[in-house]
Amino acid sequence: MTDVTVPTPCLVVLVGVSGSGKSTWAADNCAPGEVVSSDALREQVGQSAVDQKASVDAFAVLEDIVQRRLARRLFTVIDATSLEDESRARYREYARAAGVPCVAVAFPTDAATCKSRNRTRAFPVPGPVLTKQLKEFDRVHPLLATEGYDAVFAEPGPLLRRADTRLRFGLQLPRHGWEGSTASALRDVAVAAEEAGFDSLWLMDHFIQIPQAGREWEDLLECYTTLGYLAGVTSRVRLGALVTGVTYRNVALLGKMIATLDVVSDGRAVAGLGAAWYEREHTAYGFTFPPLRERYALLEDALELLPLMWGKGSPAFKGRVVEVPEAMCYPRPVQERVPILIGGSGEKKTLRLVAQYADACNLFGDAKTVARKLAVLHAHCVDVGRDPSLVEVTHLGTVSSDADPIPAYAQLAEVGVQTAIVNFRREPAPADVTSFGAVISGFAH
Ligand code: GDP
Ligand code: MG
Repeated sequence: MTDVTVPTPCLVVLVGVSGSGKSTWAADNCAPGEVVSSDALREQVGQSAVDQKASVDAFAVLEDIVQRRLARRLFTVIDATSLEDESRARYREYARAAGVPCVAVAFPTDAATCKSRNRTRAFPVPGPVLTKQLKEFDRVHPLLATEGYDAVFAEPGPLLRRADTRLRFGLQLPRHGWEGSTASALRDVAVAAEEAGFDSLWLMDHFIQIPQAGREWEDLLECYTTLGYLAGVTSRVRLGALVTGVTYRNVALLGKMIATLDVVSDGRAVAGLGAAWYEREHTAYGFTFPPLRERYALLEDALELLPLMWGKGSPAFKGRVVEVPEAMCYPRPVQERVPILIGGSGEKKTLRLVAQYADACNLFGDAKTVARKLAVLHAHCVDVGRDPSLVEVTHLGTVSSDADPIPAYAQLAEVGVQTAIVNFRREPAPADVTSFGAVISGFAH
């Protein structure tokens, strides 16, 4: 059985006789609101699903709903026999008018099966009606390929929704207050993320929960210890801090920790770096929190020092504010170059540093905001002679409760986001992560 691979949004026209399995396929593959069913509407405007006298009204409502959904560019399935050529022609025209692709899925279930299923129904279709449908289906089935759909599926199979654009996904876990064993919960979520198709796992690097994510007495694990654990329970995902404040640790020590993460994960570490901003935790822990200018100097030193730490030999490093007599780190990382991601979208300084030093940036906000930030980043790249396509564009956002979150991600992808890193409002259960896999597979090619 081949997959019914469709773009999103899309109008899907099911074609098949009563009892051929249309409603079952729709229920298995679609959200209830996506399916516009002639039987359900006959039941609403008439006596029952087989009230033939209600057909005219039911189809008037069906076509109205279909057109209104398409005008909103909503994914829509027409669950009716669709054996009349004129009906199918109208459906294609509605899709075309809305600029939405239209596909047909045929249900070539054999006559005996349909008849026997029909007999066991609470409201069977009259025998002669079904016989006529079966005859019509044999006429229509070979016609479908000639009628001008964007795709025709000669039989049903699992529905696979594809966005036009490609996008990878990362999962950030900013809260750690799971019920029961934290170690088990983390492992189960990480394993579910890997199975769902996430490409990376990210932790915040903070010591006290930040106000944006929760209250300060809520559970928050130390970042690199936890990433080491995640390296052990996963095998494919990249692992990183989103992002490490450069003020928290001696920068050579940070380089050593990231190198170790890369080694124990077999080359899956990403070095997420930022200038740090949360003064409160510096005060609480007795860390120095220098003024912004100096934090940027520290960040720039880290951007220069880390690759030296990970390289061969033991060169001396004398930066703006950091001095390391022997930048040595063995074992060296597995990756020839551990990718460096800089968090933040400050237009003058942060994005400039991205253009100069980083392999990836991390932005947030809607597609319009991201597009503006990327224009600034590209201008910096031109300025410093860097090819902008060498900077991976990542985005951080919270999973929305929209019925179909794919359009929002498609918009991000359209303006240039390559990896969408998502977090959940609460600690996700493995099942939350697993269901997000449907969004991920919509963007995989
Ligand atoms: P529709 O009239 O084309 O919408 O057909 P339905 O989806 O309502 O299916 C008619 C009957 O066939 C229902 O009782 C379903 O449970 C059953 N049915 C549908 N698909 C399958 C299938 O793949 N296998 C089996 N065994 N029964 C099915
Ligand atoms: Mg049905």
